[in-house]
Amino acid sequence: MNTIDSLPPLREVIDTHDLRARKSLGQNFLLDLNLTAKIARQAGDLTGCDVLEIGPGPGGLTRGLLSEGARRVLAIEKDARCMPALAEIAQAYPGRLQVIEGDALDIDPLAHLTPPIRVAANLPYNVGTELLVRWLTPKDWPPYWQSLTLMFQREVAQRIVAAPGSKAYGRLALLAQWRADAQIVLNLPPEAFTPPPKVSSAVVHLTALPQPRYPADAAVLNRVVAAAFNQRRKMLRSALKGVAPDIEDRLQAAGLKPTERAEQISLEGFCALARAVAAP
Ligand code: SAM
Repeated sequence: MNTIDSLPPLREVIDTHDLRARKSLGQNFLLDLNLTAKIARQAGDLTGCDVLEIGPGPGGLTRGLLSEGARRVLAIEKDARCMPALAEIAQAYPGRLQVIEGDALDIDPLAHLTPPIRVAANLPYNVGTELLVRWLTPKDWPPYWQSLTLMFQREVAQRIVAAPGSKAYGRLALLAQWRADAQIVLNLPPEAFTPPPKVSSAVVHLTALPQPRYPADAAVLNRVVAAAFNQRRKMLRSALKGVAPDIEDRLQAAGLKPTERAEQISLEGFCALARAVAAP
């Protein structure tokens, strides 16, 4: 028995259900329930919230979210082998855990959730980045979620919170910081996971802002930022040639120098440029 709940320790769960980690599914499990409870606490006050968890695996973070008071957890897991272990957790927390077996990239969870909604996940990094971009780029804002608490490879976490002028600064930082507050809240060494991955990890907590920090059309901003960072070493006037034929004028209208490079431009500058590009 552990101190968090009445369920068996995770090592025992893994042995009982033969959940040997599969590389193809990016499986690096968290087995320390004190640590998963700590991660769950980074997600904010969970009482009264539905929590969407992607990739629960054997359920370490799921148990953390439930023991920290989530009203309900909706967990989407691709690996069928994890279902019996997750069913045991559902039994220990009656009516509070719903598990959907499937690929999170194909499933729309909204029908199963009631606001307020928070998201928490320890996911394979490629899936995590893809989902993060989707969560940050809905058509309407504010989104359905209040906050995202996500584990990333440390280098990816640094790209999300990066400031202008740094090597990590790029599309991910601008997407994240335009409509959310983003912070690294926890750093984890490889040994925190079973099996340990090659690199360190970090938990990023993002809170949705009620409205974007600066006005801009999302599609135009996205296009400008993608073009600028696709050729990040080039001056803006050549990197953005394809965005508008009179890009030099539009850069000037936005108060930017055509000779600057993407990584020197602040979020405010990119939003001004998106507005100048969208202007008739
Ligand atoms: N949350 C667990 C933990 O912290 O111990 C497991 C973390 S492990 C890094 C990632 C989990 O995501 C695995 O259980 C894996 O099977 C699952 N997974 C991988 N790709 C997925 C996808 N596309 N949709 C849903 N789950 C996925």
